[in-house]
Formats: sequence, C-alpha cells, structure tokens
Amino acid sequence: MQIPKSHPRYISLMLREKIIEGWHEGIVADAGLLAHGRGEAFDYLIGECTNDFAEHAMKHAVHKMLHAKNPVISVNGNVCALCASDIVRLAEQLNAKIEINLFYRTEARVKKIARKLAEAGAKQIYGVEPDAKIPGIEHARANCSRAGMYTADVVLVPLEDGDRVQALKNMGKFVIAIDLNPLSRTAVFADITIVDNIVRAIPKMIEIVPLIKSRKLRAGKYNNETTLKKAKRRIWKTLCTVSPKKFHVNYK
Ligand code: ATP
Ligand code: MG
Repeated sequence: MQIPKSHPRYISLMLREKIIEGWHEGIVADAGLLAHGRGEAFDYLIGECTNDFAEHAMKHAVHKMLHAKNPVISVNGNVCALCASDIVRLAEQLNAKIEINLFYRTEARVKKIARKLAEAGAKQIYGVEPDAKIPGIEHARANCSRAGMYTADVVLVPLEDGDRVQALKNMGKFVIAIDLNPLSRTAVFADITIVDNIVRAIPKMIEIVPLIKSRKLRAGKYNNETTLKKAKRRIWKTLCTVSPKKFHVNYK
C-alpha cells in the first residue's frame, strides 16, 4: 500500500506494512501480527520516541555485550521483518553471533529468515540446525545452537517471550531485552530492559558502540527496576497529559 509521507502516522503505518509484508513472505508468524499490535500500543504510550531511560539502558547493554565472551543476538520473525540489516550491522560491531530463535518454529520459516539475514549481509547464522535445547522449555521453541545461545554468557533478546527469558536466566545468562511493554514478564525478568521500539533501539545502539569503545561514553551504574519505574511513569504522564486534540507525534 502507498502511504503518503505527509500522513501524521507515516512511520507507524510503514512499520505495520513491513510486518504485513513479512507475514506474506512467511517470515512473520500469525501471532507476530498480534505481538506487533501490542508493541504499537505501548509505543504510543511512551511517546513514540527514545526516552532517557531507554538510552541509559542501551549504554549498559552495549557495554555488557562488548565485554562478553560469547554474546548472542536472538532473531525472530518480527525482528527480521523490521530491521534485518541493522541487526547484522550491530552484530558485526559487537562481534556478536546472530541466532534464529522462534516461538512458533517451523523449518520453512527458519530458512526464510536465514535467507533474509544472509541477504542483509550476515555471514554466519546460528540456530538453523539446532544441536542443543534450553532446559525447562517445551517443544521446538527450546531448540538452540550449542555454539550460540546455549553457551552464550550475554544474550540480547528483542521481542522475546517471558518463559524463555526466565529459562535463559535459569541457565545463568545475562539477559538484555528490547521490549516496549515495561509490564511484560520479559521486561521484569531481564537484567537490562530497553523499553523502546526495536526500529529505534538498534540504530541507536549502533551509534553508541564506538562511543563506548573509545570511552567517550561510560556506562556507570545500572538498576533495571529504576528503568521500568521510569518507563511506567512515562506512560502515566502520557495518560494524564495528552488529549487527543493536542496529540502530536514526536518521532525521533
Ligand atoms: P511476556 O509477559 O511473556 O513477556 P509479552 O506481553 O511480552 O509476554 P509476547 O507476545 O511474548 O508478549 O512478546 C511481544 C512483546 O514484544 C510485547 O511485550 C510487545 O510490547 C513487544 N514488541 C512488539 N513489537 C515491538 C517492537 N517493534 N519493538 C519493541 N518491542 C516490541
Ligand atoms: Mg515478552
């Protein structure tokens, strides 16, 4: 569908189109459409911009990934449809592995996601032929790669399900989530939660990497409860101050 650039919700509608296109291509699962809708609602509530608490969390996330022994970025259908190229760039900069981990795993979907990631420049993709299982998780969604997720010390899990985050925590991993919903189990269980839209978060993290590497930016202290409190306060502020008439989208 052609969406005019002048449309006040242009970016949001374009993202929706990307997800629908990904669904038609067999990259996004049916439930991925619903997950995107939940994300849209929370994005609306946090002001559709990268807030300070999210940027603060990103600095710590980048610092942690850069200092990890075996950092892994988990990719699912929505992540692939929304920002495959940026994921590949971030993984390169962080020297992190990219692993496909799907909630609704089918071999056909895995292949399509792997192809899209390869087209975006990924040289090696883990999780295509899984050889290990995340303990405590049932069925195909437990599948993972031994060299990747299974032995990773730090994992970045965008748009992840709470069960799997808890299982990864039980394995002793440091978990970094990107999740627009500060109330989700994912957000609560993770060590660092970046409450932001993945399409803004990944490019911002790419910008942050050289600053952390060159020590122009220092990570300092971090408390995830504080991050989530700030995100909830931001939502409260939106609910209390924004009237539909005055509503103005502040895309960054
Ligand atoms: P749980 O409580 O198990 O964590 P959930 O509410 O997170 O469940 P899921 O379907 O497992 O639901 O995960 C989808 C999550 O991804 C939602 O929290 C949603 O807000 C978030 N999300 C969806 N799209 C985006 C996006 N573009 N960027 C960041 N987060 C997103
Ligand atoms: Mg979740």
